Amino acid sequence: MTGQWSQLAAEIRKMTSDPVRFDVPMWRHVTFRIGGPAALFAEPADREDLRGILRLAQERKVSVYLLGGGSNLLVADHGLRGLVLHTGRLSSVTRLGDDRGRKLVAAESGVPLASLIKRCAAWGMSGLQMLAGIPGTVGGAVVMNAGAGDRCMADLVTEVTFCADGSIRTIPAEECGFDYRTSVFQEPFGDAVILGAKLALQPGQPEGLRREIGERLRWRRRRQPSGYPSAGSVFRNPEGDSAGSLIDRAGWKGRRVGGALVAPAHANFIVNAGGATADDVATLIRRIQNSVREEFGVRLELELKTWGVPELR
Ligand SMILES: Cc1cc2nc3c(=O)[nH]c(=O)nc-3n(C[C@H](O)[C@H](O)[C@H](O)COP(=O)(O)OP(=O)(O)OC[C@H]3O[C@@H](n4cnc5c(N)ncnc54)[C@H](O)[C@@H]3O)c2cc1C
Repeated sequence: MTGQWSQLAAEIRKMTSDPVRFDVPMWRHVTFRIGGPAALFAEPADREDLRGILRLAQERKVSVYLLGGGSNLLVADHGLRGLVLHTGRLSSVTRLGDDRGRKLVAAESGVPLASLIKRCAAWGMSGLQMLAGIPGTVGGAVVMNAGAGDRCMADLVTEVTFCADGSIRTIPAEECGFDYRTSVFQEPFGDAVILGAKLALQPGQPEGLRREIGERLRWRRRRQPSGYPSAGSVFRNPEGDSAGSLIDRAGWKGRRVGGALVAPAHANFIVNAGGATADDVATLIRRIQNSVREEFGVRLELELKTWGVPELR
């Protein structure tokens, strides 16, 4: 541990009572179960702590990595020379009443999507069921405009509150630049930290909603590779085509580099079949991209986000 990190940790501790830890193995915090240590790891208790820590990091010119559920991330084997901010303690969900027949709810960014879906169903709020089974948090789901079938976060979010350049702002959904698995919170507001979002849902019957959620989870279990850690779909679907089908047709299903394996059940999933490194995954990704480009003239772009892994797009 260098002086730079212990000094920053001491300043964070002076300002907040939040836990700050050194050399935290990132593989423990991501669903891929891959990744070396983060120099510093903090879990702000509320938005004021988060804002203060961000200000300190900016003053010290330290790289900040925002971590939600870690379900869409590949972290380098050598780890991160920076501060990881985990949103897990920003976890409140509030019912806001009705507006023109819609039921409104506010969720902080660290709320697990699964828990929001369950709570909304219990409150008779319909709309999130199709997203059941998507891991991660509300913040990550907004950044990624996570979705399944013909539903995505953009259909439900009415406004997003975030911290950028030291101030807190709220913008309506129309300004969030939502599109297929993207939002302004990737570009151009990649440094913004989402604090929470408001969603507008429809009235529904709790029993029926719970049934739909159960069916959706069973559908996922049948369709998605289970048993091995992964980060979900690796590539974005190219316009009018399916990344999984292109990878399958190029003959990659079941092939591996080290511990990284193209899932036999779903070619757009790379799984950690045991001891995979970020280098294994990166090599496999590059080989698939080259092969699909040569075979079909299509450039596969990453849906997965990478931290510290060079030259992957
Ligand atoms: C088995 C499996 C199945 C999946 N199925 C689907 C699916 O059907 N549909 C789908 O869309 N996705 C799917 N995913 C991918 C993933 O679950 C989603 O992208 C999810 O929304 C990511 O949320 P997260 O909290 O885990 O984000 P993380 O992985 O923690 O982060 C993802 C990105 O968002 C940023 N971020 C996270 N929180 C914040 C915040 N508060 N403020 C600013 N930036 C933030 C991170 O810095 C990073 O760039 C799947 C993943 C797995 C492992």
